[in-house]
Amino acid sequence: MAKANVNIENIDNFRQGIEVQRDSVIDSVDTYNATIDETKEALAVEKEKAVTLIGEVQSTLSVLLSKIEEQRAKVEELQASLAALEASEPEEYETVYEPDVTDDEGNVISEGGSYEVETAAHIAWRNEVDKLSGELANEEDRLAQMEEVESKLQAVASKLEEQQAKLDELYAELEGSQEEVNARRGEIESFSESAIEKLNKISSVLQEYLSTTIGAGQSFWSKVIFPGVTVSGMSVGKFSVFRVPTMTKAFDNAPDWIKSEVAIHGNKVKVKDKPCRSHYTPSEKRIYMDPRYDDDEYAEVFKHEFGHYIDHAHGWLSQSPAFVNAYRKDCENLDITTWDGAQNSNKMLTDLMNGESAKYDRCISDILSATYNNDPLIENRYFSEGLSYYQHDNSYWARGQNRENEVFANLFAIYSNNDIETIDFISKHFPNTDKAFKNLLQ
Ligand SMILES: [Zn+2]
Repeated sequence: MAKANVNIENIDNFRQGIEVQRDSVIDSVDTYNATIDETKEALAVEKEKAVTLIGEVQSTLSVLLSKIEEQRAKVEELQASLAALEASEPEEYETVYEPDVTDDEGNVISEGGSYEVETAAHIAWRNEVDKLSGELANEEDRLAQMEEVESKLQAVASKLEEQQAKLDELYAELEGSQEEVNARRGEIESFSESAIEKLNKISSVLQEYLSTTIGAGQSFWSKVIFPGVTVSGMSVGKFSVFRVPTMTKAFDNAPDWIKSEVAIHGNKVKVKDKPCRSHYTPSEKRIYMDPRYDDDEYAEVFKHEFGHYIDHAHGWLSQSPAFVNAYRKDCENLDITTWDGAQNSNKMLTDLMNGESAKYDRCISDILSATYNNDPLIENRYFSEGLSYYQHDNSYWARGQNRENEVFANLFAIYSNNDIETIDFISKHFPNTDKAFKNLLQ
């Protein structure tokens, strides 16, 4: 009957796993909807602004257009007057006779003659033509200026309309994707419901036909999650059912003294999947895990967060003088502003880059980020080797004893993985911290 016992628990736990998954999907969709609604609201405000602006530009344009009309009529009128005036040109010249000029004795001082001179009527007419042409040129200039302003305003209006169309498009896109996501959520919900219902039926049918007592002995999940450890609180709720195969093996390679930490304390921490940067919250004794990780990364990050919890469970070992002083000593030995520190740092980086595994370990790069305050010397070395550099930023390192805190969690993860090269690297280049860490936990 033991076999049937496991099967029923297995089914119940699997059902719970589906419920957890469903709830997390619903949570995510709710968060998504809230975010999209906010964005839509912001878009609506922008659109309102665009519409108002377009209205203003349009009404300015219509005033301008009627002024342009008036101006055009004025110019045409002037052109007609000028044409009429030009058609009525008076006689241009007249002949004037000048007699000889003589002195008292009758001698000719200057000889007279006849001259062609412009008529007074023509002079008056010419002045009139000049005046009218000048006036016409002025009015034509004004018209041209008005037309230029108009074309600029038209350009502004069409740009605004384009923007408004884009906002509309974006809005429609958001609405469409929201509908899609909500439809998918509905599908997942109804799928989960029917799966849960079926599993319940199977479970109750099995129970009905098995008269033996169920639940005696170690539960399936307590065995698989942390192998060899009987943990009553360790239900499937701790990890999503899909993570179980990975998490079952997560501490397999760890040395016994780490395994025993897991055995003693593992049942007291809560775990929740939440799409955020993974972290441990001491006040809740809860590890928040980002569900978007793949299995390997999930296990990797979990060991680090579990290290924070172990630190907390022992009353914050990372803040103890033994640990703080040991880490300070290692930092001094690697201080690049000193001759020895620069030499040591150089050796450390050479060892790291010549190795096979430590350089890929995010715990190592995070420890270096803490130790060197993200000095470009380290960052550039990682980047030039094409490696990814996992870090916290300097504002975080500057707060309280975050450094010691993270170094402790990283060491816990490093020992949980038990990679020989990485551990050798730590004991060679962070010997004091390494010793203090082991003294505190072993
Ligand atoms: Zn951490």
